[in-house]
Amino acid sequence: MQTIDILAIAAHRDDVEQTCGGTLLAMNSRGWRTGILDLTQGESGTRGTAADRAAEAAAAAHILNVAHREALDLPDGNVQNTYENRLKIAAVLRRLRPRVVILPYWQGRHPDHYTSATLGYEACFVSGLAKVETPGEQKPPHRPYKILYASLYADVRPTFVVDISPYVEQRLQSLLAYRSQYAAQPEGGKLFVPEEEIRERTLAEARHYGLLAGVRYAEPFVQKEVGLVEDITLLPVQSI
Ligand SMILES: [Zn+2]
Repeated sequence: MQTIDILAIAAHRDDVEQTCGGTLLAMNSRGWRTGILDLTQGESGTRGTAADRAAEAAAAAHILNVAHREALDLPDGNVQNTYENRLKIAAVLRRLRPRVVILPYWQGRHPDHYTSATLGYEACFVSGLAKVETPGEQKPPHRPYKILYASLYADVRPTFVVDISPYVEQRLQSLLAYRSQYAAQPEGGKLFVPEEEIRERTLAEARHYGLLAGVRYAEPFVQKEVGLVEDITLLPVQSI
């Protein structure tokens, strides 16, 4: 199996489509191999079965041009940061060997989301420990070089944004591939928003973050490290 360059890890199928799908498309266009690891399979969702969501996730992955997508079997609605779960993720990290990992931001409304941030970070750590054995076939230790947090739904100022202007429609189509979640239906009508609202909301969010950096549409990220600059004359984003 081939390795990948950038791995987005998220709690639920359709999380990546909402928070960093445009960035995966933008990076793929630059020649990087991208992938998605969903931690749960969506069995607790109000609409559709886990099997429905697996088919939808595969369709969305095709639209996002990812080289690889897989789902673990953590319980939907009860993602816990346990050593066992860290090892399950570490096994995937050692197999796929990404240089960059994108995680959800560490604060938020849904416990699965903010728990996945810490769980993912600690999995990246344990994946690099030579003496730790992971489930399944043993692969050499691997620690990603960079960990980023997709902060679209967090009330926080991003460290940087990625211009997704050419990909905003494709990203929206990847989200709409989840027909069981977003097609207009009577059940759970208060919880789920119809397609037109999804379109307006996702474009408005992307436009907001784009405006912060002087581009049309963008996705926001937080990194914990301080940025390092070699040439201050090449810093992007006009100040005035
Ligand atoms: Zn989610």
